[in-house]
Amino acid sequence: MTKPELKKRVLYIIKKLSGLYPDAKVHLEFKTPFELLISTILAAQCTDERVNMVMVPLYKSKYKSSGDILKDGLNNFRENIKSITFPNNKAKSILELCKVLKEKYNGKIPQTMEELTGLPGVGRKSASVMLGNVFGRKDVIIVDTHLKRVAARLGLTENDNPDKIEFELKEIVPDEEQHKFSMLIGEHGRQICKAKKPMCSDCAFNDICPSVFYPPLEGVGGGKLK
Ligand code: SF4
Repeated sequence: MTKPELKKRVLYIIKKLSGLYPDAKVHLEFKTPFELLISTILAAQCTDERVNMVMVPLYKSKYKSSGDILKDGLNNFRENIKSITFPNNKAKSILELCKVLKEKYNGKIPQTMEELTGLPGVGRKSASVMLGNVFGRKDVIIVDTHLKRVAARLGLTENDNPDKIEFELKEIVPDEEQHKFSMLIGEHGRQICKAKKPMCSDCAFNDICPSVFYPPLEGVGGGKLK
């Protein structure tokens, strides 16, 4: 497809999904920027539900700031997050992060992509989650597992590398719609265009999607499962 055709397709997708998921938002629960940053790091290769289950009570009872996590220490923090995937590496990384937040930013969360990605354990995806969900930026594409899968299936990208996908999508999604697009596509990925069994017969895009499956089983149907 040409770039103008892709831009047209993106607008069509945003319009349809806005009607289907008017309240699409991040699934991690948080009350402060600090909580979302920590939970975003913990959610890597884990479910948002699990992270919420473990962290919401901990934020309420003991971890209200980077200083609280530092005071509790590595061993206690690791023990408290042990039911989340990769607790050792994540605990070490978060302690490092808390140290930098406290020493360099006086416990505050920085608000630029450059500063955020300069923090230990914070990549472009986590930084975009913060910019879009707590700092009000509209021009951020959040390349998580859902967006990566659904954008490929809908023919919006052929790339596999998250950074390349991000920059490719930034060229075809209007700046002011990029965060909304990320939330909508993520929701569609959770509800309909699921990883193993996309529900193509219930999908609003089964008339335009190059990967449509009837029936929705891998290896059967019109497209190639990505
Ligand atoms: S038609 Fe199927 S593969 Fe395409 S976006 Fe919808 S659910 Fe996903």
